Amino acid sequence: MAIEQTLSIIKPDAVSKGVIGQIIDRFESKGLRIAAMKKSQLSREDAGEFYGIHRERPFFNDLVDFMVSGPVVIMVLEGENAVVENRVIMGATNPKDAAKGTIRHDFADSIDANAVHGSDSIENADIEIKFFFSKREIH
Ligand code: AMP
Repeated sequence: MAIEQTLSIIKPDAVSKGVIGQIIDRFESKGLRIAAMKKSQLSREDAGEFYGIHRERPFFNDLVDFMVSGPVVIMVLEGENAVVENRVIMGATNPKDAAKGTIRHDFADSIDANAVHGSDSIENADIEIKFFFSKREIH
């Protein structure tokens, strides 16, 4: 299986709950390495551009409001099959549907405040990583 990189964001709900360390532990203990990491307060412009694909969806404004409501932790995760592995570790988008032991089952409250973001494909991972990180920040 190929070594891949994917973008992960620990969202404002999980940052304010103080579970950054517990979430990072889920990734590391499943073999995903932190290749880059920073804490950031997104502007409305950043969040709108990052989630531009959802601009026409009814939840877009709420999603942007939520993503700028507090600081986030943005990471590049690296490992075998990292894109799919990360999505398995996160669990379903809606925490009500997320399997036991996944991040969203254990730490998320609602479909908006769902603790983490993860790239949904290798192509989008590449775009999302470049949106937040320069090459010299990824190790
Ligand atoms: P993503 O699918 O990761 O690009 O992100 C979309 C984000 O929008 C999800 O992680 C949710 O937090 C949020 N969201 C709110 N309502 C919905 C919905 N009905 N369907 C999908 N995502 C939603």
